[in-house]
Amino acid sequence: MNTGETKGKGEGKSVTDLARPEIVAMKPYSSARLEAPGRGILLNANESPWPLLDEELSGLDINRYPEPQPEALLEGLADLYRVAHNQVLVTRGSDEGIDLLTRVFCRAGQDAILHCPPTFGMYRVAAQAQGAAVVAVQRSAGSGFELNGDQLIGTLLGDDRIRLVFLTSPNNPTGDVISRELLLRILAAATGRAVVVVDEAYAEFSETASACELIAQYPHLVVLRTLSKAWASAGLRCGSVLAQAEVLALLRRVIAPYPLAAPVTAMALRVLQPDMRLRQQKLLRELSANKKILLQILQDRDWIKRLWPGEANFVLLEVDDAAGLLAHCAAHNIVLRGFPADPNLRDHLRISIGSSSELAALKNALDDWKENSA
Ligand code: PMP
Repeated sequence: MNTGETKGKGEGKSVTDLARPEIVAMKPYSSARLEAPGRGILLNANESPWPLLDEELSGLDINRYPEPQPEALLEGLADLYRVAHNQVLVTRGSDEGIDLLTRVFCRAGQDAILHCPPTFGMYRVAAQAQGAAVVAVQRSAGSGFELNGDQLIGTLLGDDRIRLVFLTSPNNPTGDVISRELLLRILAAATGRAVVVVDEAYAEFSETASACELIAQYPHLVVLRTLSKAWASAGLRCGSVLAQAEVLALLRRVIAPYPLAAPVTAMALRVLQPDMRLRQQKLLRELSANKKILLQILQDRDWIKRLWPGEANFVLLEVDDAAGLLAHCAAHNIVLRGFPADPNLRDHLRISIGSSSELAALKNALDDWKENSA
C-alpha cells in the first residue's frame, strides 16, 4: 500500500485550480456526525432516542445518523483496490461519483466533459444535468468501435472547455480496455487542463492492470470502482472514487452529508470479509466459464454480423434485426439490452453473462429464432 502523500506529475494548474471556483470558495456543510463522533449521550443531531426497527436491524442504531465515511469501510476498500485509505471516497454507486465529479469540475454554460461513445450513458446525463457541454470523440462503427486515441488527444488539446475526460475500461458496451500506453499519453496531455476519470466498473473481469496503481503519481487521475458488478452487490449502491486526497477534498464539499445508509455499510463490510472474497473469486471463475459457454452458443449463427467478446461480463452483438430478436427473446421471458435510441447501436444487442440455466434458456430462444428467420 502506498502512503498517498506523493503529488508527482501534473505541474502547472493544480487540480483545485481546475475545479469550479465557487466550489473551492464554498464553506462546506458540517453535519452533526462530522463535528462529533457518534459516542456518548447524543443530543446534537435531532434524532430519535429510540429505535423503531430494533428487532429487524439489531446492532445498527438505525435511529442515529450513520458515519458519513465509515472508517472500517474506507480501510477495507483501500486494501481491496491497493490505494491509501485517504485516497478513497465511498459513494452510492459509481453513478454518484460521476455526478460529484461533474458538479465539482464543470461550470454550467462554460465547461465540458469529453467522452467516447458508444459508452456508458451517465457521463452525458451528468454533464447535461449540470449544464456542461458534452464533447464526443466517437468510436466509429467502421473501426469496430475502437477508441481513437490520437483524435481524443487532439480534441482535448484543442478545446479549453474540457475539464473531465471519461475513459471506460473495460468499456460498456464494447468491452475493450484502454492500453496503459494510451492512458499515459492522455494523462500527459491532460496535465494542467483536465481531470482524467478511468471508470473501471468491470475491471475485475479483465486481466488488464488497474489504473489505481497510477494514482500516487498523477494528481489529476481518478479511478471509479464499484461493488455492483464483480462483487455481486448492485443492490447495495456502493462505489468508490479513488484519487489523491486533493480531488477527494473537493468532492466532499458537494457530497450528501450521509450518503451511506447504515445497513449498506454493514453489508458492504460483510462483502469484504475474507470468506466472501474467496466466494467472489469462485463466482468470477464460474462467470468466466459461462462466458465461454455463451460464446459457444453464439458461434456459427449466420444472423450475427459481428461479435465483441470484450473483457467484461457481457458481449455485444451486431445482428440483422435487433428489435425483432429483442422482442423474440422477451417472448421467451429473456431480457436483453437493446439500444433503439442510439443511431450507432441500432442494430446491436448486449447480453450479460448469466447462470448456466439462464444461458440454457437463452440457447433455446436463439435456436428458435434461427428456425424462425431461416
Ligand atoms: N460505469 C459503468 C461503465 C457502468 O456500466 C455502470 C453500470 N451499468 C456504472 C458505472 C454504474 O455503476 P454503479 O452501480 O456503481 O452506479
